[in-house]
Amino acid sequence: MRNALGLMLASVVAAVVIAAGGWFYYSARADQGAPKTVAARAADQLPAQAKLAAKDDVETTAAIAAKPTAAAPAPAVPMQPKQACANPNALGVSRVVEIDTTGGPGFGFEHFKQFDFLTDKEVVLTFDDGPWPVNTPAVLKALADECTKGLFFSVGKHATYHPEILKQVLAQGHTVGTHTWSHVNLNSKKMTEQQVKDEVEKGFSAVRFALGTNPAPFFRFPQLQHNPAMVSYFGTRNVAMFSTDIDSFDFRKGATPEKIVETVMTRLDKLGKGIILMHDFQKHTGEAMPALLARLKAGGYKVVQMKAKASLQTLPEYDEALMKDMKVPTAGTNARPISSVVQTVSQ
Ligand SMILES: [Zn+2]
Repeated sequence: MRNALGLMLASVVAAVVIAAGGWFYYSARADQGAPKTVAARAADQLPAQAKLAAKDDVETTAAIAAKPTAAAPAPAVPMQPKQACANPNALGVSRVVEIDTTGGPGFGFEHFKQFDFLTDKEVVLTFDDGPWPVNTPAVLKALADECTKGLFFSVGKHATYHPEILKQVLAQGHTVGTHTWSHVNLNSKKMTEQQVKDEVEKGFSAVRFALGTNPAPFFRFPQLQHNPAMVSYFGTRNVAMFSTDIDSFDFRKGATPEKIVETVMTRLDKLGKGIILMHDFQKHTGEAMPALLARLKAGGYKVVQMKAKASLQTLPEYDEALMKDMKVPTAGTNARPISSVVQTVSQ
């Protein structure tokens, strides 16, 4: 009995020490940035019950009012050390907003002017068309060096080519949305309604397949070509749509890292805030990121991370069709143990 009691006491002490350590980390981080996002940041790594406690400090939906909040309670579980920021002068994340995607809200003033949730000097970093070797990892490294987070709109086909890269995007705490199956113009007159729907839903299923989990219900139309019927459709699917405020034009011929930084900063200094559109698919974008993030920091800009309140629900028929397309064996053929299929009969 005494041993059991001692063990229990030791566990309690260990838990308190670990929790205090985690809290210390977040307190230290909070000193560099906005205290109100402490709980939001901590919530990233916490299980559901702890998230509930921190939830009040996460901005919810697009009805936004930047309200200061009291210090958050100490997290109940240890933080993951990999999340620690080694750079004391990092750009970081100033706040996390959680989006309720019910009814398919739109963001980015180039097309959607309903939800003006960013305050002065706030930016959202978004990256389209990945995952792609070299370029996506270059963007990830630049973001990690500055302990900041982005929102990635993945092309389904690319996700199936490089699932391991997309998994990295998610593992590093970024938000992953989708950008169709094969990056076609959904507003083209050549596309039937069914083809448009297939492009979108297959894109959802492909990104889910690559991640091994549901992506955020966040979508960006290729080339920002908003098909009106699909805008309504996303309303029924509870998928938020993203346009942009600041186009980096990093996909244009002749783009260089320097030009990308200048294009973004010139427009941003004029607007004062906004959702920035970039492409982790593009080599120059990865190369531009360290300088761009340094300019954002020097200019007093703050990065806001957008997360979804609930994840996307893919449609089973598209999940199944994708598996068939990719010739992934189904559970039926996988179900037998290897020993019942392959037997050594002579050696
Ligand atoms: Zn694109």
